[in-house]
Formats: sequence, structure tokens, C-alpha cells
Amino acid sequence: TTEITKSIKVAVANGDGIGHEIMDATLRILNAAGAKIDPEFIDIGEKVYESGNTSGISEKAWDAIRRNKIILKSPITTPQGKGYKSLNVTLRKSLGLFANVRPVSALHPYVHTNFPDMDVVIIRENEEDLYAGIEHRQTQDVVQCLKLITRPGCERIIRYAFEYARAYNRKKVTCMVKDNIMKLTDGLFHEVFLEIGAEYKDIEQNVQIIDIGSARLAARPEEYDVIVTSNLYGDIISDIAAEIGGSVGMAGSCNIGKDVAMFEAIHGSAPDIAGKQMANPSGLLNAAILMLAHLGQNKTADKIKNAWLATLEEGIHTPDIYKDGMTKKKVTTSQFADEIITRLGAQP
Ligand code: ATP
Ligand code: MG
Repeated sequence: TTEITKSIKVAVANGDGIGHEIMDATLRILNAAGAKIDPEFIDIGEKVYESGNTSGISEKAWDAIRRNKIILKSPITTPQGKGYKSLNVTLRKSLGLFANVRPVSALHPYVHTNFPDMDVVIIRENEEDLYAGIEHRQTQDVVQCLKLITRPGCERIIRYAFEYARAYNRKKVTCMVKDNIMKLTDGLFHEVFLEIGAEYKDIEQNVQIIDIGSARLAARPEEYDVIVTSNLYGDIISDIAAEIGGSVGMAGSCNIGKDVAMFEAIHGSAPDIAGKQMANPSGLLNAAILMLAHLGQNKTADKIKNAWLATLEEGIHTPDIYKDGMTKKKVTTSQFADEIITRLGAQP
């Protein structure tokens, strides 16, 4: 495949909390690697909410997203209460980003993990379930949230998971549901998994109840390959997977829709460590690597991945992955980026 030479416009959101620090690190690395992207910065999140816009995103930002169709996004903070709507949910629903793909693999022996052979991809349904936004107050003391599951939604995400497994030469797809309790909603997800699975006889497949499934994922993650599940379960098990694989700060993800794709770290804006240069930029960097591959810039993506791995191999670690005997040099967010840039053969 030939490398693209023209720069692709990308809507870039610095986000809130640690967002700015990890985006700065990521963009400096992309730039040093010669990635052909042309960022158009958009304002979303806290500042926009506080200006009185309860959606957290301006018309101008929507416009840039719709024009560019590719988004690289740092985590944002949704202020508590006062009718603020989650921008993440709004973006996913408005842009039809139905699949959230979250690969997590151990980097043994360079980053400490109890699970050296772990290599899973979680494919999370992104628009339905308890995130569909059907929540209301019945009386002062009774509130209710409705779970929405549709057949087309199940078909799309489950087919995507099997196609993903084929494309990336993965051997097994595990479906996680709780249909012993939610017979209709999770029952539908399970039923569609069996129907579509029948078209993919070449791929091993099984169904697990989410509670024992997540317990086993935490105890023996090496038994899993691709996991497909609904929105809320997928959110929870991907934090589990990333954390036991090394750190929640390590995993990137892509949100895939029909015409738009959005790339982000799996973690949130981590206000507890914001502004301290302590955040691991690897999650967002891995999201950016997925973005470059999506844009056909595979060589650049591989080059960055190798420089990142080389940095970790040499024991250069941010505080979240610090481990006695493994960490040789504890670095800040921006020093970590500098070390990667040096290994790309560029000047930080
Ligand atoms: P959200 O609801 O947006 O997913 P959350 O409540 O899951 O947010 P996060 O913002 O993801 O919370 O942070 C959880 C904890 O993980 C933080 O307190 C922080 O210490 C740690 N953490 C998250 N991201 C990173 C990172 N990139 N580097 C280091 N530590 C991180
Ligand atoms: Mg979270």
C-alpha cells in the first residue's frame, strides 16, 4: 500500500482535566513522525457547558466535525447536575458511532501486569442500552431509566464483531449478556448473536453471563479474544481489561460510524491528576495510531507504535505504570513524549 501524501483535516478537541496535556504530547509525537494530518481545533466540554450551552458543544464545533468526519478527542468533563447532557453520549448518538472498539494487550515484560498473555479486543455497542437517555422522575423519590435494545442495533454490532475477528485473524468471539434476568433485552442480544454467529462457522464463539464473564476476564484474561457486548457492560469490562493489562491510561479506542470516526482514550478526564504532568498519554496516542491506520497511514502508525514500545521497553514510565525493578526512569507526560520523539529520530 502506498502512503498518503496529502494532509487529512482532523477535528481535534483538547478536552478537560488531563486532556490538554495528553493531546499536546500526542500531537507532538504525530508531528515528529510526519503524520499527514492537519488539526482543526474545536471547543467542547467544560468551558462550553459553563457558557450556558447545556449540550457542551457549539455549532462551530459541529460544523468542523461534519466537514472533517474524523475526530481526535481528549476526555471531557460533564459538570454534575443542572440538566447537562453527556457530550460523549450526544456525539456517539448524533454521529451514529455504533461501534466502540477497545483493544487491550499486555506489554509484558516492559509494563507490569499479572497477565502477560492477555490480548483482547472489546467491541462495545455504543448507542443503545441504558445510555439511550430514557431516564425520568416518576415521583420525588422514584426515578427510572429504561433499557433500549433493538434488533438492527444488535445485528450491526454483532456483525461488526465477527467481521473484525475475520479481518484481524482473531479466533474467538465471546458474547456477554445477562439474559437470565433481562430475558427480553439481553435475550434479544443473545438470540441475534447465535443467528449471526451461524454465518461465521470459521470463528469459535461462546456466550457468557456478564457477572461470571467479567470475573473470569479479571482472573484469566488470556482466555478471551474478541468480546462483544452491550453499552454499559462494555464500558465496565473495558476499564477492567485496561487496568489489569497495565493501566487504564494505556488503552485507546475508536468509535466507528457509517461516515464519521472518532478516536479517543478509554479513560476519563482524571481531574485528580490534571495539570500535574502525571498523566500517561499512551491511551490517546494509541487512539491516534488507530486513526492513522484508519486513514491509510499505516507506515507512520507502525513507526510511532515501535517508538512507543521501545520507550516502554527501556523502562521509561509515567507514574501510573511505575513498578520497582521495571521502571528505570520515571517521567512526566511531556518527558514521555520527548523520549518517544527521540526514538523516532527527531528533536523533541
Ligand atoms: P469517565 O466517567 O469519564 O469514564 P472515570 O470516573 O471513569 O471517568 P477517569 O477520569 O477515567 O474516571 O479516571 C479514573 C482514575 O484513573 C483517575 O483518578 C486517574 O487517577 C486514573 N487515570 C485515568 N486516566 C489516566 C491516565 N491517562 N494516566 C494516569 N492515570 C489515569
Ligand atoms: Mg470510566
